[in-house]
Amino acid sequence: MLFDDLKPKDTIASVLVPVAVPVAYTYKVPAGQSVVPGTIVRVPLGTREVIGAVWDGEPDAAIDPNKLKSISHVYGTTPPLDKDLRRFVDWVAGWTLGAPGMVVRMVLRSEEALEPEAPVPGVRRIEGVEPERMTPARRRVLETMEDGFAWTKSGLAHAAGVSASVIDGLVQQEVLEIVSMPAAPPPPRPQIDYAQKDLTPAQQAAAEKLSESFDKGAAVTLIDGVTGSGKTEVYFEAIAETLRRDKQALVLLPEIALTEQFLRRFEQRFGVYPAEWHSEITPKNRARVWRGVASGDVRVVIGARSSLFLPFKELGLIIVDEEHDAAFKQDDRVPYSARDMAVVRGHISRFPVVLASATPSIESRVNAEQGRYGLVELPDRASGAALPDLSAIDMRLDGPEQGRWLAPGLVGAIKETYANGDQALLFLNRRGYAPLTLCRTCGHRFQCPHCSTWLVEHRFQKKLVCHHCGHNERVPESCPSCQSTNTLVACGPGVERIAEEVSDLFPQARTLVLSSDLPGGPERLKREMKVVEEGGADIIIGTQLVAKGHNFPKLKLVGVVDADLGLAHGDPRAAEKTFQLLAQVTGRAGRVAGGGKGFLQTYSADHPVIKALLSNDKHAFYQAEIEARRAAGLPPFGRLAAVVISGPDRNFAEGFARQLARVAPPDQAVTLLGPAEAALAMVRGRYRFRLLAMAPKQYDLQSYIRGWLSSGPKPTKGLRVQIDIDPQHF
Ligand code: ADP
Ligand code: ZN
Ligand code: ZN
Repeated sequence: MLFDDLKPKDTIASVLVPVAVPVAYTYKVPAGQSVVPGTIVRVPLGTREVIGAVWDGEPDAAIDPNKLKSISHVYGTTPPLDKDLRRFVDWVAGWTLGAPGMVVRMVLRSEEALEPEAPVPGVRRIEGVEPERMTPARRRVLETMEDGFAWTKSGLAHAAGVSASVIDGLVQQEVLEIVSMPAAPPPPRPQIDYAQKDLTPAQQAAAEKLSESFDKGAAVTLIDGVTGSGKTEVYFEAIAETLRRDKQALVLLPEIALTEQFLRRFEQRFGVYPAEWHSEITPKNRARVWRGVASGDVRVVIGARSSLFLPFKELGLIIVDEEHDAAFKQDDRVPYSARDMAVVRGHISRFPVVLASATPSIESRVNAEQGRYGLVELPDRASGAALPDLSAIDMRLDGPEQGRWLAPGLVGAIKETYANGDQALLFLNRRGYAPLTLCRTCGHRFQCPHCSTWLVEHRFQKKLVCHHCGHNERVPESCPSCQSTNTLVACGPGVERIAEEVSDLFPQARTLVLSSDLPGGPERLKREMKVVEEGGADIIIGTQLVAKGHNFPKLKLVGVVDADLGLAHGDPRAAEKTFQLLAQVTGRAGRVAGGGKGFLQTYSADHPVIKALLSNDKHAFYQAEIEARRAAGLPPFGRLAAVVISGPDRNFAEGFARQLARVAPPDQAVTLLGPAEAALAMVRGRYRFRLLAMAPKQYDLQSYIRGWLSSGPKPTKGLRVQIDIDPQHF
């Protein structure tokens, strides 16, 4: 090696930087500094500086040292990413065919976390010194400080009920001294035996089975329990067991709006709130949680899918609640399934993973039935309440009059529920007022200029909005095509329109729309969820947001406005997804006290999904669905990968996709479909074409795709090629 004499090995290092290249880059280590694999560093990259991590593997010693750039900063107070986490990052990169640097970026989510928080000034009592003159205010201050701890000035003034000048006076007299104290004390630890509920025998048995899995190391267990069966209480015991073993626990939830209620339940069980991790927390808290997780001060995190990449010091359990939920799949950048990657993280570090759902994914159900996962079933509600009684309203026979969306049968049931002082929920998975606006005179339809979708009218905001790119425009006075006025009509209902109908029918009732896009954001949503929980609303109109894990004790009736909505898709997962969504949302009714009812408004009462829901025969539905997948060689019995080509020029993108398809290496095991226009043919001004590769279960599809794409044409002129292993939609 040419430069070996000039440069001992440990003066250069491999660093993963957050760019889409398959390898680590080599940097010089500044004199007097030392790094190990996992050390977090800042390095120059092109014209900027980026955060990266020193990685395993030899740096490239063949590069002329004069051409190497130096690491500009070593984050010496942050623990290096440990070996398990580095293996996990490499594994995720290998599985998703993403760049390891882009995966490590998901670990280094908080730049502020990398330096310790500056200490803040505080005051402390000097032993034995008394003030020259004792006043009532001074006495209160000294009494407040009897515990001997340091206080911030403002905290002390507040606690003692005095003005800051009283404290300044005591400092001047040297009764108190200025000290520096940590910006935030470590959070209090969860108490394992704070308040355990008496578990039902079924819950008890389930909790014991989970405990047993702890001694097996990397065991995965599926809790398949009906809505209200008390799955949360069961996995709380698994968390308690983890804490007993001095390990950290992570709970993944699909929706932030749910965390509020979950946090309170956790507090009731363990006496403290867990740490939260999702996109809505402030940068400061984000940094504290990140550091706390790395130092071990934070014992339990509840978070969105991104919390899977936190640098836990000693993680010992992951729970994936509502494991069937599509929100666990990240679709952009590095497409990955947090549920599947949670299983991988548990496997690498040899700890148990628990998946919980009332309507498990077909994948997890098959894994459990084939014995790869443990299976715990909870067929009854914890309260003993019966599951809701479901019926269909055939919209062909018993539908509403023109211009209305709620059938008389459903309206009657709402009336009865309202009269009894109970809550009713109307579910429609469509935000806004109307999904399509058209001109009655010329037929003009309002389409998004950047996406192949109609604009959705939002009447609260007086706007037409694209739900894919956010484009929005005011509802015009006249038709932009034929200039007629008063000819625009709203077609079909969204939740806002249902709310309008409800207000019309029940002017006295307290109605509430729960939808993620209303002004006020997540804060308002959390408040309103609480209002519903406490019985402060009579009729709730909601999107899929309300279908998820929330507990509304007073809810007795669920009306599904359009049960056919999800079935219309040509997607083979449509049946599974619709069954899950409708079972979940109707399962909100009568969870605690029983007597719940559900109505499905449908034009296809004979559809297998609708029939399975009505007969409450979940097992028959799953068996039929599993057999259909097996027969077609679809996941989980076969493997799929999507290659999506997108670009600003339609012909160019399509041509490239065809070219790529032509050079695919022939392989008996691989079936290549497409290119075809993606389900959404254009998004944000980019045309999208999709190739789908299918292969048998044991086949190494990643290797095939890697070989294919590396030998194929390279994307140019703004084209992008994105690989999605196990796409949600196939
Ligand atoms: P799931 O997550 O299975 O839908 P939850 O854990 O949310 O069910 O429980 C449903 C309801 O039953 C909650 O209100 C919960 O407090 C209550 N519950 C669960 N287990 C018990 C128990 N053993 N004793 C009393 N109440 C329980
Ligand atoms: Zn017109
Ligand atoms: Zn758009």
